[in-house]
Amino acid sequence: MVLAFCLILVFLTGASVGSFLNVAVARLPLEKSLLWPSSRCGNCLQPICWYDNIPILSYLILRGRCRTCSQRYSVGYMFVELATALGFVGLFWIEIVENIHTWPGDQNPEFRLFLFPLESFCGFAWHALLFAFLMVATVCDLRSREIPLQLTLTGTLVGLVGSAFMPWPFPHAVAQISPAPIALPLGAQTWPFWEPLPAWCAQGGNVQTGLVTGVVGALVGTLLLRGIGFVFSAGLGKDALGLGDADLMMMAGAFLGWQLVVVAFFLSVFPALLFGIIQLAIRRDNSLPFGPALSLSVMGTCLAWGQISDPLREFLFNEFILFWVVVFCGAMLFIMSFLLRVIHGNK
Ligand SMILES: [Zn+2]
Repeated sequence: MVLAFCLILVFLTGASVGSFLNVAVARLPLEKSLLWPSSRCGNCLQPICWYDNIPILSYLILRGRCRTCSQRYSVGYMFVELATALGFVGLFWIEIVENIHTWPGDQNPEFRLFLFPLESFCGFAWHALLFAFLMVATVCDLRSREIPLQLTLTGTLVGLVGSAFMPWPFPHAVAQISPAPIALPLGAQTWPFWEPLPAWCAQGGNVQTGLVTGVVGALVGTLLLRGIGFVFSAGLGKDALGLGDADLMMMAGAFLGWQLVVVAFFLSVFPALLFGIIQLAIRRDNSLPFGPALSLSVMGTCLAWGQISDPLREFLFNEFILFWVVVFCGAMLFIMSFLLRVIHGNK
């Protein structure tokens, strides 16, 4: 009973947030205010009453039309509301009900009655917030091949502020970490920026740890994609990667830290391939937005981090290996893109 009530509440919250995200998707690319004026029909400009603005339901009741002028609205609106609601429920299920990150309170029998610690809920809300930002970026990218800078900059700023308040290993308490941990505890920010932490960060759990983790994450996110875009463009001799994607990863890095951004970038190949095949099948259009694949990969990697990160730990915290991997990958990328240019040039 309690569980069902919680899930319904999370679903309704998600649907309402999704409704607001629709406003963001419609207005951000035009640099309009998100709060004023209230929602209105894009055709007859009549304000939409509150009872016609209920997420999901109103769309179904009015069969996707304006009450005044019967203008047809895109089904995308309802899809965003539904996807956000389901995304929130899924996230809640995985992070709170299943407690996949083994956040504190799990041993407590009351946890199952949803008297879990407020800290765990904050961790979930943190990831739900990132999900909402990524959702807007995805829909904007799908609609106009553009991710508004206003969105990603706001997201990065929010990410940095939150990072200062929820420093790794939050929601774990610092005292729970043994001096030589077998597994690094997963925080809302997945990992700290370095292991072992420098002396001025003590054991983590303080403002400087959280802030530096967020700043390094944002820098690595944007520099990784800009760097790859730069090398690729240099080899290929033309622009290759959108800057919006770099900004998106900057935002994700500010929320989750740099290791996750790097891994999520490499894993995004899989959803990108899948979306590419789908798009080729239905549209025969080869200009592929990368934002949706990146967003999906960021959320997926965040949830799977406990399962996939252990073998990566040795190498992600070793400056010697990191340096040579960057040099090697950079060189390979340049050679590959240069070869592509030669092949294209000879055609
Ligand atoms: Zn209308």
